[in-house]
Amino acid sequence: MIIMDQTLTPASHLLQLEDEHVAHNYHPLDVVISDASGAVLTDLDGRQYLDFLAAYSAANFGHRHPALVAAAKQQLDRVTLTSRAFHHDQLAPFAAGLTALIGKDMVLPMNTGAEAVESAIKVARKWGYEVKGVPDGRAVIIVATGNFHGRTTTIIGFSDDPLAHDHFGPYTPGFVQVPYGDLEAIRNAITDDVVAVLLEPIQGESGVRIPPAGYLAGVRELTSQHRILFIADEIQSGLGRTGRTLALEHENVTADVYLLGKALGGGIVPVSAVVADHDVLGVLQPGQHGSTFGGNALGCAVGLAVVRLLETGYYQQRAAVLGLQLRERLDNMVGRGVVAVRSRGLWAGIDIDPGLGTGRDVSEALARRQVLTKDTHGSTIRLAPPLVISEAQLDHGLDQLELALRDLS
Ligand SMILES: *Cc1c(COP(=O)(O)O)cnc(C)c1O
Repeated sequence: MIIMDQTLTPASHLLQLEDEHVAHNYHPLDVVISDASGAVLTDLDGRQYLDFLAAYSAANFGHRHPALVAAAKQQLDRVTLTSRAFHHDQLAPFAAGLTALIGKDMVLPMNTGAEAVESAIKVARKWGYEVKGVPDGRAVIIVATGNFHGRTTTIIGFSDDPLAHDHFGPYTPGFVQVPYGDLEAIRNAITDDVVAVLLEPIQGESGVRIPPAGYLAGVRELTSQHRILFIADEIQSGLGRTGRTLALEHENVTADVYLLGKALGGGIVPVSAVVADHDVLGVLQPGQHGSTFGGNALGCAVGLAVVRLLETGYYQQRAAVLGLQLRERLDNMVGRGVVAVRSRGLWAGIDIDPGLGTGRDVSEALARRQVLTKDTHGSTIRLAPPLVISEAQLDHGLDQLELALRDLS
């Protein structure tokens, strides 16, 4: 039995309970959110915070976007889950809408991002054996240093982040890692057994790392030449964040396979997808892959509402416009606590002067100023406010960042 300590506030009581009963696989900031709307999060004491993380871009459209909540509520009153043992009336419209948005034929609906990545690995291997003619069991997938593709046993096996990787082996074979941004390294890693190159067009978790100009176009050229699938993990970079529907559009490059997740569920339910043409996804036959919740009616209804928002182009445009404002303000902080800025659209990674403290110190100082974000590796902070944030809110949050850096100096 838990005896509530009367001296604790409700928030600190919850923090204590959480510490006791939830695995410590995260190190959250000490804020307990109980409400959210648009770009604003409210804690148990009624304190309001600007959200500068947007749930790692899962909340691109802001919290409780009216159109998305309406779609979810409507679907809650009809049917939420049938499994794929039967058809339901939400899957086809969702798949038709999403394929039209992305410019491919087919969707394989899943739930989390990691599942989409796992699914694409399976599809690429099967395609390699059945279409490309690679001898069974020999398929190789080229991945990049600094990658983040999720947390399953196969995926963490090809991560070079010791926290994600170490002591979770044995690791799945069949992956070769090359330096991100280095086209020659990919060229040198290509053999007849390579079935796919799996890359983030911009590495989010790694600190919003943008590869050199021409790299992604070069990957496209190489993979086409050698009949290798180019799998773009757009789970974080996609769906409006960079000012385009897909980050690859900035380079005028199309991948063979797109992986989507995060924002596809509108911040409401987990929805992910592998999106590709018939010649690739067509390798899957009944019974060969699946998920009880993949393509569920509630997820499809929300996913279709997300597609409808993106079809307007409004959110991509907002990300582009606000991104200019973000960039200009951040560039002004270089030399004043910030040592480097990388950004595309409303998405930035900034490296903090290590003399000021760690990224964690900065996110804590910012939280005291009622702006929430999260450090990523070491002294890097990622900024990714919801795309519905106003110019004034964005400016206010960046004012607080400037002040937080001053607090630490
Ligand atoms: C978040 C993320 C994933 C994993 O998504 P989950 O829903 O957390 O499993 C995969 N790839 C990229 C690029 C991501 O940012």
